Amino acid sequence: MVDPRSFISSLKAQPWYSGQIVAVKELPAKEAEYAEEARLLKTPFPEPLERYLSARGIRLYSHQVEALERIRAGENVVITTPTASGKTLAFNLPIFERLHRDKKATALYLYPLKALTNDQLRAIRELEEATGLALEAAVYDGDTPQHLRPKIRERSRVVLTNPYALHEYLPWHYKWQRFFQNLKFVVIDEGHRYRGVFGSNVALLIRRLRRILSYYGSEPQFILSSATIANPEEFAFKLTGKEFTVVSRDGSAHGPRYFIFWNPLKYPARSAHRQTSDLLALHVESGLQTLCFTISRALAELVARWAKEAAPERRIASYRAGYLPEERREIERGLKERELDGVAATNALELGVDIGGLDAVIISGYPGTVISTWQQAGRAGRGREPALVTLVGFENPLDQYFMNHPEEFFSRPHEHAIIDLENEHILMGHLLCAAAELPLGRSELKLLGANEDHLKPLEGKFLQKSSVGWIYRGTVRPVDLVNLDSISERTVQVLCDGELLETMEFNRALEEAHPGAVLLHQGETYLIKELDLEKDVALAAKEEVDYYTDALKISEVSLLRAHRTQEVSGLELGLGELRVTERVIGYRVRRYERTVGIKDLQLPAVEFETTGLWLALPDSLRGEVERAGRGWPGGLHGAEHALIAMAPFYAMCDRWDIGGVSTPFDPDLKGPGIFIYDGFPGGIGITEKLYELLLEWVEATYRLVRDCPCAEGCPSCIYSPKCGNQNRPLDKEAAVAILAAIREALSASA
Ligand SMILES: [Zn+2]
Ligand SMILES: [Zn+2]
Repeated sequence: MVDPRSFISSLKAQPWYSGQIVAVKELPAKEAEYAEEARLLKTPFPEPLERYLSARGIRLYSHQVEALERIRAGENVVITTPTASGKTLAFNLPIFERLHRDKKATALYLYPLKALTNDQLRAIRELEEATGLALEAAVYDGDTPQHLRPKIRERSRVVLTNPYALHEYLPWHYKWQRFFQNLKFVVIDEGHRYRGVFGSNVALLIRRLRRILSYYGSEPQFILSSATIANPEEFAFKLTGKEFTVVSRDGSAHGPRYFIFWNPLKYPARSAHRQTSDLLALHVESGLQTLCFTISRALAELVARWAKEAAPERRIASYRAGYLPEERREIERGLKERELDGVAATNALELGVDIGGLDAVIISGYPGTVISTWQQAGRAGRGREPALVTLVGFENPLDQYFMNHPEEFFSRPHEHAIIDLENEHILMGHLLCAAAELPLGRSELKLLGANEDHLKPLEGKFLQKSSVGWIYRGTVRPVDLVNLDSISERTVQVLCDGELLETMEFNRALEEAHPGAVLLHQGETYLIKELDLEKDVALAAKEEVDYYTDALKISEVSLLRAHRTQEVSGLELGLGELRVTERVIGYRVRRYERTVGIKDLQLPAVEFETTGLWLALPDSLRGEVERAGRGWPGGLHGAEHALIAMAPFYAMCDRWDIGGVSTPFDPDLKGPGIFIYDGFPGGIGITEKLYELLLEWVEATYRLVRDCPCAEGCPSCIYSPKCGNQNRPLDKEAAVAILAAIREALSASA
């Protein structure tokens, strides 16, 4: 393949090059680490598996052997090695081995998305065929035809499904008696996807499953596969309630990788998206087969079109979720067989789909997490060949933070994935489901993280105490009361052509499904025509638009209860319960990065209680800032925006999952302060994690603002596109001074 260094030189020779390459990081090639032959396996595999491995010439990597030996030993294992390192084989081998030896044993595989289930079924069927083990593996979810269902429940020994389907079918557990009684393994693939509100719901769903299983006398092993996260053990424990062993040392081989940080802001005359297509065109013209990730379907198509115009004799396509399965398979095949030179795609291609390795990947816009960035980057690399990855940073704080501090991308651990088992809104719903599945005994409450106090408000209308435990007596199916993607009971259904597009929390809907909002759904753009708050329905139409909308929101907070407080050098920090009032007052229309209009909205205010943290600042600091001739309220406001912008780097969340308020005088704090809170009723554990990581978070935020090359503040540091106060007042130097003071106080106490 093309030598990466000479490619980089040719990039620099382009007429449109103006210093955009702010860093190139070379990651050395890695040799494979195989398990040493002598201690390859403690005991050999049964003949069919042995035959499969030798027929395919598969040599197991060290981490595969480690994982499979631990699974054989009965441990719960979480595997966090990179994409394409053979994670699936590492757990499929011991599972197949067990199912071969124990002719009744069964296994349940859980995937976060339907599309993945079908992909994985293919892999499992191949293994079934190659080994001659007839396990009748099948997918069981909403798409499974009715007439096939009884047969699967009665005969299949491997069932693949998703949490939504499991939630729906758990009340019918008696039909699954054979399968559940013999269940030896629960595999949770793409585990890192179960975080935040979704993850917290799934954690309780898994506890409901465990309770049903123990009723049928089985206690299966759990196997979790996940992208690299900072806290795999804690995360796996919270998700399942079980202790896990982590297998993270990757034994697979790869060639050298070149990671280019491309800052389009160095050449303001050409948009970041145009520069992306310039890059894609140059890559394919140089003979590098390239996959370019964009943030939306509209951009995937634009970038592909522009690149085709620039490189007409090359084969370039776009790929997105909305295509027909046949179309997608065709593009996947084209990539794998190298009939396509370049593809611009939404993150639909980030997950499991097999497309083989490419020469290069362009990531246009930081995908929001270090995890996703590595998963997308992992698409580049074929065997020992060198691979090129280019990250194009947009004009927003996290993107520009990496552009200004590329070394941080490699040196810091990945984000913490968060699951909150203490959100009472989530817990209540699952308690009802559990009581409807089987009478809920007192001793079982602990498994669900509940106690009798949680049941009191439900008694009477929903629950009845009996000699066998609490029994559900409500009138609706409790599984209909619980939506795995949300917390509050009040949700809004977004409909398009009479079909349900998605269900949203009420608060979310005010922000994302107000009239005029552009809604991104699986990379497609929809325009909201109407939001009916009497029926809680939003009507959307599929439209290709080239602009985005950001809701403008104002909030107020009051402090209800402090859980933790500390004082360091005159700075008071706290974590506790807040009452938040938020109101969406309008929205901003952005075409690419520019604001092209602001519109007003009349929507009701929402009030909720949640978890939040606060920083109460000493008045002496105000004096210092003002003596330097800087604006104190503008400094507080800027620091608040920047802290929120950096938060997703520490606690895996979206910038918009948290909210904030800053004020020169807060009546609860009796002085100036900044509040940051979880934007969900009851809280979801984000600010709790931020409170734990306070010093690191403040430190990085300080560096973000200090090192931003702008003079007076900009969208890459202290501006927020959703600020209901139109980003006024803001004072960058004062924000730096305030963040520096907080950082100093915190590090003095550390
Ligand atoms: Zn700036
Ligand atoms: Zn603001």
